[in-house]
Amino acid sequence: MTSPLPYRIGYGEDAHRLEAGRSLVLGGVTVPDAPHGAVAHSDGDAVLHAVADALLAGLALGDIGQYFPDTAAEWRGLDSRVIVARALELVRERGYAPVNVALVVTLDRPKLGPLRTDIARSVAALLALPEAEVGVSFKTSEGLAPAHVQVRVSALLARVEPAE
Ligand SMILES: [Zn+2]
Repeated sequence: MTSPLPYRIGYGEDAHRLEAGRSLVLGGVTVPDAPHGAVAHSDGDAVLHAVADALLAGLALGDIGQYFPDTAAEWRGLDSRVIVARALELVRERGYAPVNVALVVTLDRPKLGPLRTDIARSVAALLALPEAEVGVSFKTSEGLAPAHVQVRVSALLARVEPAE
């Protein structure tokens, strides 16, 4: 089914519990010196999971759990870039493309400020966007959820092919 709308907004969010001895990957970037990493079936990249969900939600295509069920052995340890690529493919199949995204990462430690450019660049590359179209904000939970990473993403999609 095609949409008549020239623009569609998508929103996604994701969270993972953090445990010592695991690596922390955010937006395809491995965070150096992280004291803990995501407990997950895949690589636990909460940024990319929320990005993919925002893309899917923008076109009412459901969520990543439908395409990559966490009960399926084939997706164990999955590189989440594959999830974003699939979501992007579904968006493009419907004649749309992302034009900008804004993401907010809530994490108490380590401080992510030094990785802002790396994460923006990595997410931009996955979405075929200029780096300037990926906004990256960092928050802490103020100690309320120290073993937790939370990501929220909004994405604007624009129609790039005429509606059928
Ligand atoms: Zn996730």
